[in-house]
Amino acid sequence: MHLVIIGNGIAGVTCAQTLRRLRPEARITLVSAESAHHFSRPALMYLYMGHLRWPDVKPFEDWYWPENRLELVHDQATGLDVAGKRVLLARHPPLAYDALLLATGARTRYYDWPGQHLQGVQGLVTKADVERMSQATQGVRQAVVVGGGLIGVELAEMLRARRLEVTMLVRDQHYWGSVLPPEEAALVDEQLRRHGVRVRYATELAEVLGDAAGRVRAVRTAADEELPCQWLGVATGVVPNLDLTAGTAIETDRGILVDELLQTSVPGIYAAGDCAQRRNPPPGEAAIEPLWYTGRMQGETVAHTIGGQPTPYRRGPWFNSAKFFDLEYQTYGQVPAGPVEGQSSFWWQHPSAPLGLRLHYRTGGEQALLGLNALGLRLRHEVCDAWLRAGAPLRTVLEQLGAANFDPEFFPQHEASIVAAYSRQHPDEPPLTLRRRKGLLARMLS
Ligand SMILES: Cc1cc2nc3c(=O)[nH]c(=O)nc-3n(C[C@H](O)[C@H](O)[C@H](O)COP(=O)(O)OP(=O)(O)OC[C@H]3O[C@@H](n4cnc5c(N)ncnc54)[C@H](O)[C@@H]3O)c2cc1C
Repeated sequence: MHLVIIGNGIAGVTCAQTLRRLRPEARITLVSAESAHHFSRPALMYLYMGHLRWPDVKPFEDWYWPENRLELVHDQATGLDVAGKRVLLARHPPLAYDALLLATGARTRYYDWPGQHLQGVQGLVTKADVERMSQATQGVRQAVVVGGGLIGVELAEMLRARRLEVTMLVRDQHYWGSVLPPEEAALVDEQLRRHGVRVRYATELAEVLGDAAGRVRAVRTAADEELPCQWLGVATGVVPNLDLTAGTAIETDRGILVDELLQTSVPGIYAAGDCAQRRNPPPGEAAIEPLWYTGRMQGETVAHTIGGQPTPYRRGPWFNSAKFFDLEYQTYGQVPAGPVEGQSSFWWQHPSAPLGLRLHYRTGGEQALLGLNALGLRLRHEVCDAWLRAGAPLRTVLEQLGAANFDPEFFPQHEASIVAAYSRQHPDEPPLTLRRRKGLLARMLS
């Protein structure tokens, strides 16, 4: 059995590692054009900022791959011969497979702005992007970042680390308006300002303007304002990389369409990670999940199926985490950006420090927890996950907050003030009793 995997990102590599464990005799080949060895994409920003070097962002030593009989082909796959079960490569002979995993990731989304092909305009997805950005921002004084999501803030942080003047253009009325409620967005906004980032809300990019040498010199907004810049970062999301499916019977939509076993419309060909789009995701789940941990879960799941143990992909409660400069952010389950009928939220914010916690719950009945947002407070994944899977009542969650505090030794404890704030807002409810942390976590998880 020969499994060929195109893409050595987290989805491809996790599949390879899992299959090696399940099927020691299998031949496994990873093809990737980007880099000879797997690296951590979320760590790319630290290369630019000089905090890490290339060897530091590779989670495995180079000997790991031959040691585990994982064959690496550093080459571009140029096409698929689906009938002949072969992958065509730019610099190597075609590679025959029994099973094929497409784990080709995603690329920067552009919106057809006039001037977007000028020098100094780019996104941040690949290792080559970081190298290009490093070169292109040398000697630059002013940069603009278009897009107010996680990558937008990362770009701003990277550029500020090299002391560029940074202006962010954000389409929504507040930061990441499609995802964050206004209170969380205000805390992030405070961070951006504190770190010297100018943010223009309700502002859209209309055109990129160039100089005589073909380099970006300014951007024009939809309100006809011209902002001078010598570098423009595009952080308006990513789109799945579908190149290899062209001219094949592999069905695509925005991504490569897969069933719950992550199999494409062609038997024996699978897709996982940023490039995959689930045909029928469960209600409330996105069809495309461009995240590190979902890529890992999909890679692991599909390896079981390829290895002869058909296993549907079940993600469980949503989770994501990020850092906005110094502010840590975690989100679990569903926390909508605005009001939803039949649901409500309790929001706590520290009076002076950038700390906030939102508990989102179903109104009526036991007030089952639906989701949490934490800013500046680090919560235990396994505890939040257990609450969400069990639909824990809001009052229980409040009383058990101590169990979710990730690091009570190092982080000041705020449970008492959170519970007191809740009681003040709900004077008609019986008093809450904070459970003692000791033993609680073990009991909850047992
Ligand atoms: C800057 C940045 C920061 C991020 N931070 C976070 C974070 O903090 N938390 C989080 O959860 N997620 C984060 N993400 C998202 C996360 O990194 C991705 O969801 C994840 O890496 C996707 O993994 P993947 O295996 O699907 O694809 P990728 O890692 O994109 O790997 C796909 C690989 O396939 C290769 N490939 C594609 N086509 C071909 C071909 N034809 N021939 C050969 N090779 C090919 C590509 O070159 C690429 O190397 C971040 C992303 C970026 C860009």
